[in-house]
Amino acid sequence: MSKWQAEKAERNRQSLARLNRALPSLFPPAVLSWALGRPFVPPTPRLAVDSYWRAHPIRADRLARALATRSGAPPGWTWQLGDNREHGLPATYRTPPAPYRERIYTQGPGFCCVCGQPVYRFGWHVDLWDSGANMNATWHCACVIAWQFWNAPSDYTRLLRRLQARRCGQSGRRLWKSAEVDHRVPLFRVWSEHRETPWPDLLNYWGLPNLQLVNRDVHAAKCALEARDRRAARPAPAA
Ligand SMILES: [Zn+2]
Repeated sequence: MSKWQAEKAERNRQSLARLNRALPSLFPPAVLSWALGRPFVPPTPRLAVDSYWRAHPIRADRLARALATRSGAPPGWTWQLGDNREHGLPATYRTPPAPYRERIYTQGPGFCCVCGQPVYRFGWHVDLWDSGANMNATWHCACVIAWQFWNAPSDYTRLLRRLQARRCGQSGRRLWKSAEVDHRVPLFRVWSEHRETPWPDLLNYWGLPNLQLVNRDVHAAKCALEARDRRAARPAPAA
């Protein structure tokens, strides 16, 4: 065994001992088996949960949208943009609408600011331990990953490439290395035409249902068409 392998084995032995000490008798089995299969075992239950969701962004995306459906939008909420950071309104339509991140609808500690549901131990979304909401948390671990996925889908091209069996989402041709992430319904159109869609259905426009990987030339052509439509839709300046 090389020195490096010996060090790795020792590190894993220590991490596993730490994890076992901190592990409650109830723990999501999928997360545990994921953690035990890592080249470097996460040393705490919380890190095991983080690692699990980081590796499963599509699952996180689906779960976050499902949890948000349980909450629904707060009464009176509409999708608005704003540049006053204190109000917590998104500055651009590119950011997914998240009512529970806005100051007037925020529910405070123990609730997730993305989906609006209670957060439990280890940032989990189910109270397996009957210990009530985790008052130190304002995000589910899953919702952190979903939020990253929605805001920066181009960080997930490898995953999308696999999901699409390496075919361009638009042309069906083989995907090139330079393929780019595209919103099937562009976000400017979501803002201009689908703004009244009830929340959280709106989130589907940021999630997997509206994402595709397309070849660069196809993407450029699609964007040019969209830009033309956008110009045509803009009211003509008064003479
Ligand atoms: Zn959440």
